Amino acid sequence: MHATLPLLKQTDFPAIQRQSLTTLQVNLGYRCNQSCLHCHVNAGPTRKEQMRRETVDQVLQFLHHHRLPTVDITGGAPELNAHFRYLVEQARAAGARVMDRCNLTILSEPGQEDLADFLARHEVEVVASLPCYLAENVDGQRGSGVYERSIQGLQALNACGYGQPGSALVLNLVYNPTGPFLPPPQAQLEADYKRELSKQGVVFNRLLTLTNMPIARFGSTLISKKQFASYLHLLKHAHQETNLGQVMCRNMISVDWQGFVYDCDFNQMLGLPLPWSARPRPRLADLLERELSGNPIAVADHCYGCTAGQGSSCGGALDSEASL
Ligand code: SF4
Ligand code: SF4
Repeated sequence: MHATLPLLKQTDFPAIQRQSLTTLQVNLGYRCNQSCLHCHVNAGPTRKEQMRRETVDQVLQFLHHHRLPTVDITGGAPELNAHFRYLVEQARAAGARVMDRCNLTILSEPGQEDLADFLARHEVEVVASLPCYLAENVDGQRGSGVYERSIQGLQALNACGYGQPGSALVLNLVYNPTGPFLPPPQAQLEADYKRELSKQGVVFNRLLTLTNMPIARFGSTLISKKQFASYLHLLKHAHQETNLGQVMCRNMISVDWQGFVYDCDFNQMLGLPLPWSARPRPRLADLLERELSGNPIAVADHCYGCTAGQGSSCGGALDSEASL
């Protein structure tokens, strides 16, 4: 795989600082039952990295100490980590809002038959990847048969109350482009998804559009196809200054499976260290007593993926009114 950091490091992206810390994004490991083309984590079934119980306990300690309102759990497929359910239970008991970044096919993997019920019981917010409402596009990006299993996963979540009118169980879907282009306007695409998925009896709350990051597997594919420079040009050309105030690193930090801390999941994948820390790679346990608000954030050219067009974050578009 091609390294992308050397092509991104020299940057003119504006300097940014963290505001108040509200969210801890926890990457439980890179093992996944899928190997999607756009994956910024290079996750797959053969990856062995998994967060251990001891590190999960440090996550919970950090959560308590900083009284963080939100835990955003990701991977890989985070549900494959043996301590996923423990983390969810403890974080919910601490009163945190818990989000699970779920790939939907995990719901029908052997041993996960009760997953939808578990998530509903603990009122976990599900953020589910579905890069298109058309089967051929989903299968092309995520693998043969993934669309059908994703629909089955959505139906299972709906049956537990997720996304239903009047229900408190939140089911948001995530769209990302199938190639090197920006997502279309989020509100319009959400209407299209709702119309098309309702034909299969599927309901959901919101569609979140995400821009593909020119890093890891997607970035490497761009290099192989000689599209890296043109994609970066597209992102830079579409930069919207107004999105800078809302990029997700302003209010969150990301911890990897070993407990190392980064400004966001993308910086984690690039191995971009926190720019203010005396240690090259601080662990969460080292930062327990530290005040993280106001600290500078490590930026490189991939950050334009967060500010291009309508913007992109864990919560979807930053400015859905922005023109593309
Ligand atoms: S994009 Fe998500 S579902 Fe696909 S390989 Fe990566 S972690 Fe797994
Ligand atoms: S890539 Fe990470 S560090 Fe850069 S703007 Fe986006 S969230 Fe912030």
